[in-house]
Amino acid sequence: MTTYIILTDDWELRGNGTGRVEDLQRKPAIQLMNLYDSFGIKSTFNVEVLQQLAFERYVDVDEAIRSGRDAWLETVRLMVARGFDVQLHVHPQWMKAELIDGWWKLDRRWNLADYSVEEIRRMLDAAIPYLDKLTAPHRIISFRGGSWGMGPPSRAIVEELVRRGIRYDLSIVKGNLYDGEAIQLDYRELDSPFFPYRPDYDDIRRFPRTPENVAPLLEIPTQSIERSLLAKKILEGLPGHGPSEALRGMISVLRGTRLYSRIGKMARNIRSRVSGKKDAKQPDFVIRDPFGFQSGRAMTDVIFDLSSDLPFSVFRDMADICIARAANDPSPLKVLVFENHTKDLQTPLHFNRIAKLIDHIHTTHSNVEFRSFVQLADQLDLNAW
Ligand SMILES: [Zn+2]
Repeated sequence: MTTYIILTDDWELRGNGTGRVEDLQRKPAIQLMNLYDSFGIKSTFNVEVLQQLAFERYVDVDEAIRSGRDAWLETVRLMVARGFDVQLHVHPQWMKAELIDGWWKLDRRWNLADYSVEEIRRMLDAAIPYLDKLTAPHRIISFRGGSWGMGPPSRAIVEELVRRGIRYDLSIVKGNLYDGEAIQLDYRELDSPFFPYRPDYDDIRRFPRTPENVAPLLEIPTQSIERSLLAKKILEGLPGHGPSEALRGMISVLRGTRLYSRIGKMARNIRSRVSGKKDAKQPDFVIRDPFGFQSGRAMTDVIFDLSSDLPFSVFRDMADICIARAANDPSPLKVLVFENHTKDLQTPLHFNRIAKLIDHIHTTHSNVEFRSFVQLADQLDLNAW
């Protein structure tokens, strides 16, 4: 039985509004499309739209914003023209964004689940038609919440998405615990951490509690791997990798744990005490610890994110773990969603690593095929699940 991998990509500026569209979005997206095309693969870009709508409000007062807006439009048109899949991604903090002295002042709530039904409606009514107009007749059928935020409470978001033709959600990723200035969520305990399921209307993390509570969309989790499991795999492969690569891998795997956050916090405190000034010249409204990593309250498993700072050998181990997990799972629908953030692909090394990973999967796993989200939805009747 074939296992399908969907390479997704959350296409956006940084969560606090910093960065340029030309550098963080257009350039790496074009490079990534070139790379995927060289393998005959189409991927899915989860395009964040509220950022672009904020840019639209300032095109007449700021030349740099206008050029960012245009670069965004041009790139999305190119994605569609080249046969890549464009789907919906929403960071609610952009809804009423204000541009102040060149910095974006964003809402302090980064989780869509923290907004009212009216606010959710307003966001989707603005974002979906804007994207539809650019991408038609290409269909917008899937969603990923900004910062993975999808509740609970999930009902209002699910209802409003389904009403607008969206049938799939990719917001669940096992292991995330956020407790920061901008978002709190807990995805440590999930009913189906790795494979597609019909979720509960009120709690996207759960199977439906009653027949009435079956949500009319399919949840397809993004892949992640427990840190201890990955560390074990890295150690097992030690003779093959060589010690320095394994050590780099282990350090990377420690990232996202509370211990790592605490060490980072101590280092920053010492640095600011020595230098006597703050880390950056950002205005106070730019959130510094949105998720709670700096305070040490957040943690995650290792998310399968192609832009993570991990050596190739670790990505290879992760792919092997995920593919074996799919093979051993009784579910007849074997779909692995991998994540990426174009904004973090900034050197040839980053792209080479992705190429090596695809090459590894092609050569080692003959029963695995790559699809974009819409390709897979067209091929299989996903909604029958
Ligand atoms: Zn995002």
